[in-house]
Amino acid sequence: MADDRFHVYDTTLRDGAQQEGLNLTVADKLAVARHLDGLGVGFIEGGWPGANPKDTEFFRRARTELDLKNAQLAAFGATRRAGVKAADDPLVAALRESGAPVVTLVAKSHDRHVELALRTSLQENLAMIRDTVSHLRAEGQRVFLDAEHFFDGYRSNPAYALEVLRTAAEAGADVVALCDTNGGMLPDELAEVVHAAAQTGTRLGIHCHDDTGCAVANTLAAVKAGATHVQGCANGYGERSGNANLFTVVANLQLKRGFDLVPPQALADMTRIAHAITEVTNVTPNSHAPYVGTSAFAHKAGLHASAIKVDPNLYQHIDPAQVGNDMRMLVSDMAGRASVELKGRELGYELTPESTKTLVERVKDLESRGFTFEAADASFELLLRDTVHGERRRHFEVESWRVIVERTKGGELVSEATVKLHAKGERIVATGEGNGPVNALDRAVRLALEKLYPELARLELVDYKVRILEGTHGTGAITRVLITSSDDTAEWATVGVAENIIDASWQALEQAVTYGLLRAGRETS
Ligand SMILES: [Zn+2]
Repeated sequence: MADDRFHVYDTTLRDGAQQEGLNLTVADKLAVARHLDGLGVGFIEGGWPGANPKDTEFFRRARTELDLKNAQLAAFGATRRAGVKAADDPLVAALRESGAPVVTLVAKSHDRHVELALRTSLQENLAMIRDTVSHLRAEGQRVFLDAEHFFDGYRSNPAYALEVLRTAAEAGADVVALCDTNGGMLPDELAEVVHAAAQTGTRLGIHCHDDTGCAVANTLAAVKAGATHVQGCANGYGERSGNANLFTVVANLQLKRGFDLVPPQALADMTRIAHAITEVTNVTPNSHAPYVGTSAFAHKAGLHASAIKVDPNLYQHIDPAQVGNDMRMLVSDMAGRASVELKGRELGYELTPESTKTLVERVKDLESRGFTFEAADASFELLLRDTVHGERRRHFEVESWRVIVERTKGGELVSEATVKLHAKGERIVATGEGNGPVNALDRAVRLALEKLYPELARLELVDYKVRILEGTHGTGAITRVLITSSDDTAEWATVGVAENIIDASWQALEQAVTYGLLRAGRETS
């Protein structure tokens, strides 16, 4: 468990998920939570149970599917409605029933928001805070309070904004996070307000949005002024210009200010984690992101090249290895000897030094061509099996495949796929129809193999992600497809890369089926 004296609080799954174009399934949220836990954050805000069915589901599944080593889950929600008891408010009940050890309540601290948005009196707002905090505390949950629009509220009515803090703290809130909800603050004025708020003796947190490009700077200024709880989002996700980038905040505090927030070995994994999360969110990573961007320590050769060779530290602000980044080149997520060995052992394979070397080289080569094994665990395992066996072993061999997309007279688009396979000494030709080419290929493969392998009926494609990657070596853009499949008990992901999207999809599909058969206990011949 992380030290309670300083909190690293992640809100990617709630506030970060507000980002335009970002859409997380419950499985995605669980995956992101595991990555954040791996980094060693203290708190992961999972969402708003009761208000959002997906978030209710997240907390339900988290109980059995998330085995957090460092972080505690926080459920986000509002104070009770005006005029009812906290104990009788169904939304407060949903927070109680979420099973989260921590509840973060959002409350108004700006007098005009209380009157105009909440349409209640300033006194009733304080009663709502007092009542909800003390009720949840009495029911055994730890409570943090997000003081919404605090900085604008302080400007409008400082006495009332501070009264909100005192009320929450007296009712039992452990932390009051001051929120720059509109994101309009600059570091110097923000620090003055935090300093004034600290005079109340309340433990303070800080929650900043990046509308002035100052979210990280504002967060650091607040810490200097006395905040001991920082909120932010992975990769700076969030609506408008985003939230404070939690990775930048953590790296700055730990490497520049000497805070002991996450284990050094976890910090040294931060670049990998930041990229792994982009694979889940399907948001193109910002290559210029501080610390974790692929360009963050990339130097253009030229005037400085020879000096860099002599002493790279002359040209970089930290040793990139501290955050798991690399000075020269793109980070290869899996392609380190140690991580490959570790992963192999985890999967139950004993790798000889030679096979480790071969595997590392293969992974490096494939990653340089756009593959990613970080998010495609099943593809990695197939590669590993092939390396251990010294040959490619499959349940079926592909002779050819073909897809036709037809626009019918009625304007409907129909896809038809034909696959020709060899399995168990038979040559099989099968045709499938679907609403798209990948769907048609999927059906054709199942039709071809289902007699020999009836367990394929349980296999399901649950997610399909496409990313266009910039071409290298003068080629055009290439397409990367990630397919997530499941049977009754688990999910696995496979990857395909090609210039042609259907080719990339086929590669991922073929591996998905192969891996599904291995899971069902079918050994390759
Ligand atoms: Zn926010």
